[in-house]
Amino acid sequence: MPDVKQLARLLMELDDQMATCMKCGMCQAVCPVFAETMREADVTRGKIALLENLAHEMIKDAAGVQDKLNKCLLCGSCAASCPSGVKIMDIFLKARAIVNGYMGLSPAKRAVLRGMLTRPRLFNALLGMAETFQGLFTKPVNDVIGSSCSKMLSPVIGDRHFLPLAKTPLHNAVKPMNTAPGASGLKVAFFPGCLVDKIFPRVGHAVLKVLAHHGVGVYLPDAQACCGIPAAASGDQDSYDKLVRYNVDLFSKENFDYLVTPCGTCTATIKDIWPKLSDAYPAELKARISSITERTMDINAFLVDVIGVQAVENGKATHTVTFHDSCHLKKSLGVSAQPRTLIKANPDYQVVEMKEADRCCGNGGSFNLYHYEISKQIGRRKRDNIVASGAEMVSTGCPACMMQISDMLSQAGDNKPVRHPVEIYAETLP
Ligand code: SF4
Ligand code: SF4
Repeated sequence: MPDVKQLARLLMELDDQMATCMKCGMCQAVCPVFAETMREADVTRGKIALLENLAHEMIKDAAGVQDKLNKCLLCGSCAASCPSGVKIMDIFLKARAIVNGYMGLSPAKRAVLRGMLTRPRLFNALLGMAETFQGLFTKPVNDVIGSSCSKMLSPVIGDRHFLPLAKTPLHNAVKPMNTAPGASGLKVAFFPGCLVDKIFPRVGHAVLKVLAHHGVGVYLPDAQACCGIPAAASGDQDSYDKLVRYNVDLFSKENFDYLVTPCGTCTATIKDIWPKLSDAYPAELKARISSITERTMDINAFLVDVIGVQAVENGKATHTVTFHDSCHLKKSLGVSAQPRTLIKANPDYQVVEMKEADRCCGNGGSFNLYHYEISKQIGRRKRDNIVASGAEMVSTGCPACMMQISDMLSQAGDNKPVRHPVEIYAETLP
């Protein structure tokens, strides 16, 4: 049964926020989905027109409304260029929560979000088992990128070239840590995020190496949970609330100066979305959320802005790398110069800019699952810009973008490594 009171509250909040849209249509020019489909229903203005009559539309065709709302990458390109400052991401997330609250979760989403994601130890154990057997169904296709494909699973995953689960996830390779500040006098809580933990543990190892080098104490608690974005994007308010509370409890146990993550999406979720979706929480929980979000930083920004890592440009660089600005990192958090500085702090690397470096790569989390053909069209444009830059590798500060770019490069037969800036910087350290 839908919680009618909660739905009514969210509908009223939504009405107030949408009133600021003046229907100028400037969001069309920047929307990567609209650029592919040219359909007004796929861009913000069209979605707001639909939401203005949401209660009526839901009664008429709730599944149709859900489908239209989900055809969005939540990339924030429209919000970043809206002249009226419409809080588009808040509107889209609340609208998804309303429609999902009305319709209920599909059995598949219920199994993933409520059965696994909100139970971190079970989630880790199940993915550990999946890693053991993944070799039976998959075949490596690109050694440089590390991608695989699977004919057997193609009814579910299509022709994707995906990155397999790591043999040893970060949480198994590194024991929980709680070390005192070193030479820097600082201590951070380290939130690797699910993708770094399970697919890119090498990025997590690089973060720990860099933090140790700069004398930063680390709090790395056991059994960390997802930041909550898959639940928020699916409109599953219950799972989202559970994940936020779990993480807030875990990170309230210890004192630290900053919470750092190498995942642009996790950073944006904790820093931006946690406060935005906390209206109905009790004051005590809101205060604890604020205390964490105010201290949350992207790892690139922490190393450059707080620790003071600087570029070394001595003209002796032997490697070229082009940098993709993740939407969450640049458009939500304004972090763009710092990852480039971090790459250039390794004197062996030179940054070669690609065209449209801050154009979305097309991943969009569940968007990639449900609208893969559009996701691929957007991703191919990113791949073409990477290749046209002439750089020998590509770097980006979000593991979700790393997965999408790896897929696009691998499908095109390009042998270009995809790396996180912190990996490149860590390479230069003893
Ligand atoms: S750019 Fe902003 S104000 Fe203009 S139509 Fe889009 S959401 Fe509305
Ligand atoms: S969030 Fe991105 S994909 Fe969604 S409407 Fe805005 S620009 Fe388009």
